[in-house]
Amino acid sequence: MPRQCDICQRARAIIRRPKTGQRICKECFFHVFETEVHHTIVDGRLFSPGDRVGIGASGGKDSTVLAYVMKTLNERYSYGLELFLLSVDEGIAGYRDDSLETVKRNKEQYGLPLMIVSYEQLYGWSMDSIVEAVGRKNNCTFCGVFRRQALDRGALMLDLDHIVTGHNADDVAETILMNLLRGDIPRLGRCTEITTAGDGYMGRSKPFKYAYEKEIVMYAYLKRLDYFSTECTYSPNAYRGYARQFLKDLESVRPSAIIDIIHSGEAIKVSEEVQAQKPSSCERCGYISSNAVCKACALLEGLERGIPKLGISRSAKHFERQAVEPVHFERLREKAHEMRRRRMCGDSNPCTTTSCDDSCHGTTCACTTDDDGAGGCH
Ligand code: SF4
Ligand code: ZN
Repeated sequence: MPRQCDICQRARAIIRRPKTGQRICKECFFHVFETEVHHTIVDGRLFSPGDRVGIGASGGKDSTVLAYVMKTLNERYSYGLELFLLSVDEGIAGYRDDSLETVKRNKEQYGLPLMIVSYEQLYGWSMDSIVEAVGRKNNCTFCGVFRRQALDRGALMLDLDHIVTGHNADDVAETILMNLLRGDIPRLGRCTEITTAGDGYMGRSKPFKYAYEKEIVMYAYLKRLDYFSTECTYSPNAYRGYARQFLKDLESVRPSAIIDIIHSGEAIKVSEEVQAQKPSSCERCGYISSNAVCKACALLEGLERGIPKLGISRSAKHFERQAVEPVHFERLREKAHEMRRRRMCGDSNPCTTTSCDDSCHGTTCACTTDDDGAGGCH
């Protein structure tokens, strides 16, 4: 006999929720999925009315569902956001060119403006040419560093206040495991933050931080969303692959493992002694950097001098040339600071005092700088 939905008790249950094990109908699944993301946004105080928010859009399932859900929630709950699709073209033939076609269709389907920034245009190198020069060992290091800066540059061009990315609960749990396994304690301390907004970086957040990958796929499938599902041609990232497989094995015997790992990561307190160095600016391009020369400039110089390993090593003493076109990053700093103030003081009590001034450099706020430490695509 068909089983009724555990939530509405009326319609026929057609799915079993991977996150909770409940058997529910399609409409109730849409409702709980969207409502949980809404709570994540509200509880994390991710936005304020009037914010210009860029959705990092790759054409893949996570960012496609994110764009759809952000648009839906923005209308349903009157967030008052101005939404944009922001894509990075790494220059990977047969992969990114095809996935960007999906984003262009999403632009029409969702009626959202789209901006595409390319590595070729920003750095003079596509990923295809980088792989030709460096081989397939460190390619994701180049790609990850360039993508972070490319998104910030695109955000500046669009005058955004904030970027949202499609990182889901599985990604966050994998990153916690990876940072734990390689002993990267500063990143372990930061990678569970729902929002990162440090000096010099555009604020970023993850509205899908608690959304299971399986449910995102299910949502995309049941809503018949148009997304691209091929893996990058250059996707080795073996270390993440091990963490991912380990997580999948854990999830198969205990579905709550993903959320449990995130909650454990959130509960870890990292002592101030191991927190990140105070950031300053790259002496060449002005981008945020804890060294004299930022990682992107270092990598570019290695490429242009035909010694790509130069940029991968940590020392900047061999660098001679200007590599990245300088950009005015002051605006990013202002926005990052503004965001920290909001998160500290709450939207209902916007901070006009000095409770968070720039001198804290993010250290007194929950939302300190840097990425999730995963490198590469994540
Ligand atoms: Fe770039 Fe991701 Fe491809 Fe690595 S796997 S080259 S980070 S797009
Ligand atoms: Zn630089």
